Amino acid sequence: MRIAIVGTGYVGLVTGVCLAKIGHQVTCVDVDEDKIAQLSSGEVPFYEPGLGEMLDQQRKEKRIAFTVNPGAAFANAEAIFIAVGTPQGIDGMPDLQALITVAQTIGRHVQHDVIVVIKSTVPIGTNTFLAQIIAEHLVHPVSVRVASNPEFLREGSAVYDTFHGDRIVIGTDDAEVAGILAAIYEPLHIPILHTDIRSAEMIKYASNAFLATKISFINEIANLCESLGATIEDVARGMGMDQRIGEKFLRAGIGYGGSCFPKDVKALLGMAELSGDQLQILQAVERVNRKQQMRLVEKAASRFGDLRGKRIALLGLSFKPDTDDMREAPSLGIAAALLEHGAQVVAYDPVSMNHARTYLPAQVELFESAEQALAGADAAFVLTEWQEFTLPAFVPKLRAMREAVVFDGRNCLHDSVLEDDAVEYHPIGRQLGK
Ligand code: NAD
Repeated sequence: MRIAIVGTGYVGLVTGVCLAKIGHQVTCVDVDEDKIAQLSSGEVPFYEPGLGEMLDQQRKEKRIAFTVNPGAAFANAEAIFIAVGTPQGIDGMPDLQALITVAQTIGRHVQHDVIVVIKSTVPIGTNTFLAQIIAEHLVHPVSVRVASNPEFLREGSAVYDTFHGDRIVIGTDDAEVAGILAAIYEPLHIPILHTDIRSAEMIKYASNAFLATKISFINEIANLCESLGATIEDVARGMGMDQRIGEKFLRAGIGYGGSCFPKDVKALLGMAELSGDQLQILQAVERVNRKQQMRLVEKAASRFGDLRGKRIALLGLSFKPDTDDMREAPSLGIAAALLEHGAQVVAYDPVSMNHARTYLPAQVELFESAEQALAGADAAFVLTEWQEFTLPAFVPKLRAMREAVVFDGRNCLHDSVLEDDAVEYHPIGRQLGK
């Protein structure tokens, strides 16, 4: 089929490239001219494993094109997928401005019947609202049918997830639209769940809220393990072996971050409040997460007594490994808190250095390697479990520190540091150095 994708961010570009890979003719459109110029020359504007190679292949096959011109992108499209951002607005609810602009643009440009598929994560009722905006802006007498198709891919494994997703959710009351979308995705052989629009919108929020809940739950158990002398990895393993619980998302650490969980939890809380309901579990999830993000700062303050003048090296800045995305990463709040304590903060990340200057306060000094960041540091905070930090070869680098005091917010150094007596190791959810 001929498909237009609006928004070439993490979701839109991955979706576009993968739909091209399964045989569709894809045109991606974005308002960001630099991004489109980069993509047109075959360059992926962000870090996502495997995406560059697949983009090259699809460009060679001439199955994918890029433009800043929505009219050109929509001209022959049978379906228009929307994957623009819905960042948190000032009131805590998602800012829908980009989506509204796209809906107006679609109304003005489409000259034939078309299906509009909303992949962006949007509050319940938004698909219907966008359908109205499109209808109000139509210039030509055409039919535009809107379906909700929330996205579940994870940054860092987005291509794999698109081909191996657990389910594809299609929200529409129109059986013909559901059939067309099912046909588009058919080559992926992923189970399809067909629901009404509102339920599809809710599935996305409820799923992310549940995963965030799992994280806050295991983090609270980890903190209790520290107090009571248990070991969180063993506890999580034992819990996860119970299939009713499942082993995923039971890794204790410094809390969730990223461009989805914080904003989606906040949006669901906001939707509940607007409808006069209260989500008490989710309120606690958010509270626990805020506190957990400060866990290493508290540990360091109690270890050193006073953090003023201490040089602290942050290792890992992105919200998780295999992505350069620093939106709402725990590293941001941690850097700010350390500066507030009067510490001197230095930082290194294997791939996010291009974004680091934009997101971190100017006082944070950035280095191009872990060795440079660690040189002369009083403490290291491991904030992202990049593979580089988990290798045994990394441990000797800690000797560049004034004193090798390591606070491991991801419990990823554990095996290697144990063998090194020179390292004072502070993990999460287990006894010191165990
Ligand atoms: P992103 O910020 O990476 O990309 C959004 C893109 O939309 C940008 O390239 C921007 O220039 C473009 N854009 C903005 N306004 C536009 C317009 N009027 N016309 C054309 N392009 C426009 O966003 P993302 O991380 O890909 O997220 C997109 C949506 O998918 C959000 O709703 C998000 O919550 C949801 N989502 C994201 C993920 C994820 O892991 N990133 C996973 C699942 C769902």
